[in-house]
Amino acid sequence: MKRQILKARWVFPVDGPPLEEAVVEVEDSRIAAVYAGSHPEAIDLGNTALIPGLVNAHTHLEFSHLAQPLGPTAPFTDWIRSIMKSRFELTVPVEQSIQQGMAESLAAGTTCLGEIATSAESVQQLEQTAPAPRAVVFRECLGFSADRIAGQEQMAADYLEQQTAGEMHDRLRRGLSPHAPYSVHPDLYLKLIQQARDQGAPAAVHLAETEAELDLLERKQGPFVDLLTDLGLWDPEILKQGMRLYDYLVPLAELTSALAVHGNYFGAEELEFLKQAPQISVVYCPRTHHYFGHPPHPWRTLIGQGINVALGTDSRASNPDLSLWKELLFLRAAFPDVSTGLILECGTLAGARALELSEEIGSVTVGKRADLALVQLPDRAEELSGSDLLLNSQSHVSRVMLNGCWIN
Ligand SMILES: [Zn+2]
Repeated sequence: MKRQILKARWVFPVDGPPLEEAVVEVEDSRIAAVYAGSHPEAIDLGNTALIPGLVNAHTHLEFSHLAQPLGPTAPFTDWIRSIMKSRFELTVPVEQSIQQGMAESLAAGTTCLGEIATSAESVQQLEQTAPAPRAVVFRECLGFSADRIAGQEQMAADYLEQQTAGEMHDRLRRGLSPHAPYSVHPDLYLKLIQQARDQGAPAAVHLAETEAELDLLERKQGPFVDLLTDLGLWDPEILKQGMRLYDYLVPLAELTSALAVHGNYFGAEELEFLKQAPQISVVYCPRTHHYFGHPPHPWRTLIGQGINVALGTDSRASNPDLSLWKELLFLRAAFPDVSTGLILECGTLAGARALELSEEIGSVTVGKRADLALVQLPDRAEELSGSDLLLNSQSHVSRVMLNGCWIN
């Protein structure tokens, strides 16, 4: 049995108050003890804070090769056109992008991902890369035609079945991602959610991301009609069921866990539903939200009503990097009235809850996996509290532990 005794200036367990001058003991891959004080055999990590590994609940690592976010940001459908063009003109093998994205995530202290994958090659790369964060890998499905619907259903069934057969590594779990209301036929959407429910798998859906999406659903008009027309996919009949934003949320509550990604435009009706649907988490992507210039996100209202809010970077197509740590710093600067503890919880334990992994990760708790990030704190700031020091512009993630092993 391998025992590591680590002493840091601060420990942020997240499920309890910060501990000053504290020790974390790790036995093999799990946390064995957490306490304020010292230990004669402790390795002193100096002017640092130990925090749970960060959970990035929404990424698309397939875009990790992009040097800068794509434009234009408005109308949103033009950004979608840029995304499609970027995929078409891809010069880097997708495997390379994913490897790059995993390495970048780990370097920023992220030890768990909610990843959207569009191909079998992507999934294989996610399985084979090591060291790599844990991940729930949601297979993206989209389309409108009858043929397409049948093909996507089969693909989703095959994908989930491989998990059932125990093909995947302990580190990864499979889920489905019906992409978004504007890219998935309502029939396909409902069938995919049913498949996920039948297989006990999680799902992730982009929901309430733009006003254009609401225009499409509520009024069958707006830029998405133009985009779908240009792609030869528009048929007013595809919305004949009249599914509104609210109707996309409701079936998600039948799953053991579901991610409503973005939720920038959730209204009172959706919030009311989410309050009594604890299986559904909202994933707020702060810097992506800012990049598109949306009105303020309702994340604090959601949390105030008991709804689980996790954080994501989304991809490098809408974010300059994949650092969840920088998302926390962004929130710290943008919301001075929100406590550091709450921001840190969103980036750790709330993400673990969203991905159904809170029994195993998300806090520095005895019995959980030793997935930790070590944060170098600023020098000469003795007068500041641990919370002031942690999300400080001069603090940075310096090392990461996965399953009890330092990987850098
Ligand atoms: Zn996304």
